[in-house]
Amino acid sequence: MGDPFQELQDELDKLNQAYRERLPEKIRVLETTWAKVLQFPTQGEFLQEFHLKVHSLTGSGATYGLPVLSDASRKLELALKDLIITGMVDFDLKKDSIQALLKGLKEIATGPVQLAPGPDLPEAPSIPEETPLPAEASPTSPPDRPLKIKNYVDLNSQIVTKPVENRVIWLIEDDQAMSESLRHQLGYFGYEVTCFDRTSTISEIAFNQLPVAVIFDLTNSKEQLNDLGEKGQTQRFKMAGVPLVFISAFTDLDSRLEAVRVGGKAYLTKPIKTRELIDILDKLTSLQVPDPYQILIIDDDLTVANHYGVTLRRAGMKIRIVNHPKDVLKALAELGPDLILMDFHMPGCTGPELAAVIRQQQAYVSIPIVFLSAETDINQQLEAMGRGGDDFLTKPIMPSHLVSSITIRAQRSRILREFMVRDSLTGLLNHTETKARLNLEVARAKRNGEQVTFAMLDIDHFKRVNDTFGHLAGDGVIKSISRLLQQRLRKTDIIGRYGGEEFAVILPNTGTFNAEKVLNEIRESFSNIRHQGEKIEFAATFSCGIASFPQYQDPFQLNTAADQALYLAKDSGRNRLVVARPDTLPIEQD
Ligand code: GH3
Ligand code: MG
Ligand code: MG
Repeated sequence: MGDPFQELQDELDKLNQAYRERLPEKIRVLETTWAKVLQFPTQGEFLQEFHLKVHSLTGSGATYGLPVLSDASRKLELALKDLIITGMVDFDLKKDSIQALLKGLKEIATGPVQLAPGPDLPEAPSIPEETPLPAEASPTSPPDRPLKIKNYVDLNSQIVTKPVENRVIWLIEDDQAMSESLRHQLGYFGYEVTCFDRTSTISEIAFNQLPVAVIFDLTNSKEQLNDLGEKGQTQRFKMAGVPLVFISAFTDLDSRLEAVRVGGKAYLTKPIKTRELIDILDKLTSLQVPDPYQILIIDDDLTVANHYGVTLRRAGMKIRIVNHPKDVLKALAELGPDLILMDFHMPGCTGPELAAVIRQQQAYVSIPIVFLSAETDINQQLEAMGRGGDDFLTKPIMPSHLVSSITIRAQRSRILREFMVRDSLTGLLNHTETKARLNLEVARAKRNGEQVTFAMLDIDHFKRVNDTFGHLAGDGVIKSISRLLQQRLRKTDIIGRYGGEEFAVILPNTGTFNAEKVLNEIRESFSNIRHQGEKIEFAATFSCGIASFPQYQDPFQLNTAADQALYLAKDSGRNRLVVARPDTLPIEQD
């Protein structure tokens, strides 16, 4: 048997070589497409075709180990995107710089291979984006979404110091009453709505400040959609990554199909449920870049494990390799993988046995376990499935097959898991998941001799908020506390919606003193936020109880102590934080 590492490397090298050989042809195609753009500058589809081809080169260049090429291609891509967004108004001004970028790209593609940027690289010609433009929005200013301080929580200027993304939504709606109502309701959730009565009223100036999403009310589905498609407006949004959401009274398949064809990301039928619309907007406009998939490989043969590890790592996944079944539980707790790739035959215990052990624990019931084995006996495979395995991949497997199989399964696993573990109103972890995470964090703290703090928060007099300002305003308060917690806490902190208006926060590696400080700051900030009622603004507060490990020794004690401290905070006047201390708040054992 050859060296699997070397085999993999050879395989990848071959792919890279084949790609490099096809590069001159790719450049020729780009040049032909560009020639068409120059010949027919008013026909947007050639420019779009050119942009897509360049985009694809940016991605493939990086994948096949040519970062210099990919960088040059990205610069060209950005210049084209700018042109598309500004609607070709200054095509004549920009075409020379695009020509120069294309020339630079060709030189890199046909010159000697450059695996990393070096000092003697040909300088890429400057592109319009890099030239600072006057502050006044002119049709040529860069189309990037402006960063601004979010209105939602900046009513007290000390609260938000972090700039957050723009929350502007364009609403294309010819019914004034409907547009007022949507503007008002979306405002509850921090979206700033700009209304237009039809697409033709969107000015070129407006296109310089692109929104995070566009909502389009279809009152006359066919005509409006055709109009939208013909004017190339949808393409502009698509190119700029701005999602289109349709709201409509039409429930028929044709209207829905049309909406899909012009690139609609969502289609909601009337009457519109605000919460549904908000959820969609929140999802579509969320800027979070997904973390790489985390894969745990369990194999007693280090060489084999490394072989697959290298392949998956190259595909951008995060890999942890475990060679002995005894180390599995620790690795699981530390990594929280999206998928486990496991050898079938191991000394000491079999893959299916180990899968059964993993499945005994509530927190790991939903992680897919994929066996990778030369085992082709269907009975053995079925037995493995019965023990909690989800799938079987047979060795030997091509690197590209391994990557695609694992990607698909990890992706599905993550989507399903998100549904299972997250609360739909706030996107925070749900009660069950929060408790499971508390167990994991306490176990981790015990192992590493660290502290961990558990906090419970409950909105004060929330029933009154609902009764006075309406349930929708109440939901807005719940969302705003969720967002504040997410903005203020560290990425490693765990935030859950424990119940209706009750939240739990787990602060790993944090003792009482620091936890009290940060949560008190958040409590004060929250009390300063003005929430929007139907007619007037109002403020809300929360109370908080915290308890820490090792003062409290296990998750149950932490939970009970934090709950008792929260009760004390409520009892002593609300809008305050109480720290549970074993000497003053003994846990009753029964
Ligand atoms: P306290 O200060 O003692 O916590 O008083 P409270 O009114 O907040 O407590 P109580 O438990 O009496 O009332 C909680 C209210 O929260 C009742 C329930 O209708 C409301 N609630 C629970 N979940 C939601 C939700 O998702 N949205 C809205 N708008 N209200 C909710
Ligand atoms: Mg309450
Ligand atoms: Mg409550």
